[in-house]
Amino acid sequence: MRADKTVVAITALMVLLMSAACQSNGSLGQELPTLIVLPTLSPSPAPTAFPTRDIRPLPTAVPTAASTPAPLIVPTDTPSPALSPEATPAATTLPDRFVFGQSVEGRDLIGYRIGSGERVLMLVGAVHGGFEQHTSDLIEQLADHYRSTPANVLPQVSLVLIPALNPDGLARGRVLAGRLNANGVDLNRNWPCGWSPNAVFRDQPVGAGAEPLDQPETRALAALIEDLQPGAVLFFHAAAAGVFAGDCGGDAGSAAMSAVFGAAASYAYGSDFSDYVVTGTGPAWVNSIGIPSADVELTSATDPEFDRNLAGVQAVQCWLAPMSPACA
Ligand SMILES: [Zn+2]
Repeated sequence: MRADKTVVAITALMVLLMSAACQSNGSLGQELPTLIVLPTLSPSPAPTAFPTRDIRPLPTAVPTAASTPAPLIVPTDTPSPALSPEATPAATTLPDRFVFGQSVEGRDLIGYRIGSGERVLMLVGAVHGGFEQHTSDLIEQLADHYRSTPANVLPQVSLVLIPALNPDGLARGRVLAGRLNANGVDLNRNWPCGWSPNAVFRDQPVGAGAEPLDQPETRALAALIEDLQPGAVLFFHAAAAGVFAGDCGGDAGSAAMSAVFGAAASYAYGSDFSDYVVTGTGPAWVNSIGIPSADVELTSATDPEFDRNLAGVQAVQCWLAPMSPACA
């Protein structure tokens, strides 16, 4: 009997946590990210000379140093806030695998570029680490799909995929602590727009940082976004089942983009997140700098829901590049 009650209590807690959303809600002058090339799968000749700073051992999952191309250091002095929509996107200079920063515990923040068009569609997974591991799985599955089916990336588009904004939390696994970064900060409460030191996850207080963008993960992503000026940024979470447009007093196209994604992926859209008050979210800040953005909340707490999200990404590509014959 007692064991039964324990099981019921644990189950109820899990349901509560899994069903909880992680939804969304300034200008920035931080330095731009230092981009480091990860080796491609087919080794290429090493440059004859390269900078000596910011070079460090590569992860064990990649080829050994003998076949490793030397890192490329991208200039870091571009005044990103001054970038206009007409500025030449930096995505076309991105390597196909790159490191744009490090986590609190020193793990690489890794991105993939697939496609070479000037209109960037950025997809971000595992903002909430291992607590939403399947969102990272989704980004990896999408990367695998587009690498094996490159024709599905429109010529006008570059996909920039970030499988895990919170690799430290990802390493902790599917526990509540895995939701936060290694400083105990919720990385979807640390952005400038609508930021509050008193952030919550449902009815629980969570760290929001001492000030907006004081965490290495959010700061690195903000700088990358300001550098690339994407056409749209989608953050994947679970499991509130819906697409929630970034909103920070004004719409940069987030609502329209959310409708396109939601209709194609068969997720609800058009409503504000109302389960509880969220502050300082990523999509709100991205919207505030004039870039369409949304939280995509998967329906499942474990299933990446690949097919419907692939359909959504295809639709947003066409939204970004409606002139493409593939979108007729
Ligand atoms: Zn989340």
